[in-house]
Amino acid sequence: MAVTAASADPDSPCAPTIGAERRLFTVHGVVQGVGFRPFVWTLAHRYALAGSVRNTSGAVVVEVEGPAQALDSFAADLVGRAPPLSRIDDVRTVKLPSRGEPGFVILESRGIEGAYQPIAPDAGTCADCVGELFDPADRRHRYPFINCTNCGPRFTIIEDVPYDRALTTMRHFTMCALCSSEYADPSNRRFHAQPNACADCGPRAWVCDAAGGPVPGDAVAAAGARLLSGAIVAVKGLGGFQLAVRADDEAAVRRLRDRKRRPAKPFAVMASGVDAARALAHVGEPEARVLASSARPIVLLRAAHPGRGTLAEAVAPGLDEVGVMLPSTPLHHLLLDVVGGVPLVMTSGNVSDEPIARDNAEARERLGGIADAFLLHDRDIYARYDDSVVRIVDGREHVVRRARGYCPLPVSIAGAEGAAAVLALGAHLKNTFCILRDGKAFVGPHIGDLDHPESLRHQDEALTTYLRLFRTAPAAVAADTHPDYASTRIAESWWAKGSRQERVQHHHAHIASVMAEHDLRGPVLGVAFDGTGFGEDGTIWGGEFLLCDETDFQRVGHLAPVVQPGGDRCAREGWRMALAYLRVAGLDDGEVPGWLGGEGCPDQRRWRLVGRLVAAGGIGAPVSTSAGRLFDAVASLLGVAHVSTFEASAAMRLEALARTVPRDRAATIPVPRGGSPLVLDTPALVARLTEERGAGAEPAALAATFHESLAAAVADACAELAGAAGVTRVALSGGVFQNALLLARTSALLSERSLRVFVNHAVPANDGGVSLGQAFVAASRSATRWRGGS
Ligand SMILES: [Zn+2]
Ligand SMILES: [Zn+2]
Repeated sequence: MAVTAASADPDSPCAPTIGAERRLFTVHGVVQGVGFRPFVWTLAHRYALAGSVRNTSGAVVVEVEGPAQALDSFAADLVGRAPPLSRIDDVRTVKLPSRGEPGFVILESRGIEGAYQPIAPDAGTCADCVGELFDPADRRHRYPFINCTNCGPRFTIIEDVPYDRALTTMRHFTMCALCSSEYADPSNRRFHAQPNACADCGPRAWVCDAAGGPVPGDAVAAAGARLLSGAIVAVKGLGGFQLAVRADDEAAVRRLRDRKRRPAKPFAVMASGVDAARALAHVGEPEARVLASSARPIVLLRAAHPGRGTLAEAVAPGLDEVGVMLPSTPLHHLLLDVVGGVPLVMTSGNVSDEPIARDNAEARERLGGIADAFLLHDRDIYARYDDSVVRIVDGREHVVRRARGYCPLPVSIAGAEGAAAVLALGAHLKNTFCILRDGKAFVGPHIGDLDHPESLRHQDEALTTYLRLFRTAPAAVAADTHPDYASTRIAESWWAKGSRQERVQHHHAHIASVMAEHDLRGPVLGVAFDGTGFGEDGTIWGGEFLLCDETDFQRVGHLAPVVQPGGDRCAREGWRMALAYLRVAGLDDGEVPGWLGGEGCPDQRRWRLVGRLVAAGGIGAPVSTSAGRLFDAVASLLGVAHVSTFEASAAMRLEALARTVPRDRAATIPVPRGGSPLVLDTPALVARLTEERGAGAEPAALAATFHESLAAAVADACAELAGAAGVTRVALSGGVFQNALLLARTSALLSERSLRVFVNHAVPANDGGVSLGQAFVAASRSATRWRGGS
């Protein structure tokens, strides 16, 4: 049945042409919810073609009929001029007999059993909509939910495919006559814009005080006035609630820290535009492009001044980086407008590390002790999504946290098209899952640390949604080899129900995530540096050189093993690692070194106590090759930080300090290596740094020397290992390579040694990328078995 019959239109395509051809195009990719059908409609009119376009849950299917030359032009434009938010993976063309029908119509969507379709992520408000938002003559002037086919909510409101209003949380709103006519007009920017709405018919916003009492008057004005007076306002965003407070008010930011129980972890800041961001931080061309992209992520930027200009010190204490984002919704645009462009802290609406709050009632309950007021609205969020975080290194984008604006765009994996569907359950911290089917890897949103019951619920919700939307019943389920990960226990429940069991070692998965992103097949030399992962020998791994292919790996090198006195406590109390390294280097005389001191420095009693743990070894001091713990040790020994107030904070401050030194002033201390597997003698490096520190060398110079020396040692070790194995490609992954200085220097030194370097871009180098690697390995193993006929 035709939704739009265009044959009565005087501008409609011409009557059937003698000698006309008919072609069927099946377009796969992100083609729903992005204005693809009106685009096809307009294109058919431009070339005066007859036919139809239809969404199915598997693709967009187009049939057009007309002269061959016009069909060729149509086919070229179909890909070449596709709408900005679409992403075409492939177009299949079939010739059909001519039917001689008149006109071009848009047919009703049709679901196909078992078929799925990549869905567009949520997109920041487009320039056209922003223009209308602030145009007093426009009928949507200052309407907080303005959107069109080029922008607005998508994945956060979709309950099922195909993407039609009835299957989104917008189904509760009935369009008024004006909105309906836009929606039905193929020449309108809002043609089939499923969340289309206006003040007469669409969602509305309002403000509640802390007690839940409604505040009369304009919602945005009321929220803005409270923000200007220093209040904390919970704002319902696209993927969940955010907590806002003015970012230039030291007392207000500190109050937010106290109430959110987040003493030091940096807050992101929302600036009104690229120019406003420039007042806060260094914004180059690539940074500006990513800030203003439709994904609207938080971009980690170098702070403009030591005091960060107008930003309160409490926004990102002790760091030289600040996370900045631009408004992603009309509500944000209006809010920034009413506060006169004052930058706002905009952080996840949660307590500590729990998932972001989603519903109005849930927000009032969970954020009641934090927010002074709530800016609410009645468009429901179906899928909970945190803000995404990216960093630019050497002009390229690296995703650090992948959620709103990026999910659920898949990573394409060539050669995996025929493999059975795989579900990979990821790591324990910064958990994500990944569904791989038909050569597409759908990495789920950042869930967080699976220690919280709330996080497990979030994981379950998100996974259920993905399995339904992508029509997947996994044949194989992959998990880490760590027996105690909550994600491994979830996998066990699948295995118990008959899914094939695939276990993938943590660091192999890190390297495999790079291989998946770059379509690499083995052998590849991988360097996986992170905080912790379960090693094949039962010890803690985290500074690994692995010769990898897509199904297996061989450990060909690692950092020197050092014990972790107190196990996981070393990640928080880095001074414990300082002691352990000094002990290996023969430099611990049982006393806190005289030159050590400052906040968090242990007293003699604790030093001796932990010293005894080191000597005893065993379960209280497990053996570890962790690169993350090496950074903690050096941060402590250089007096930068003896404890980490949030994950890797000591290492981040060490990197920030190293950056204050020009690179040509950073010396390189050679790091001895030898043996098979090759061992990098990092305790020798720590010993040299310690001796120079004891002799009065500047900590900043030593921090720079540490980074340069480690990068050189990794590059030299890779050159030796790659030469022996006959490989030329090196993959770098693991959370430690989020250190931009280490990543840039290691990459440069590897290139100087004629090795090709591959790193993560689309998924995080941290544990958020592990699920992609697991899925890739599991799918590759099944393909290998299939090829082997066993
Ligand atoms: Zn728009
Ligand atoms: Zn309306």
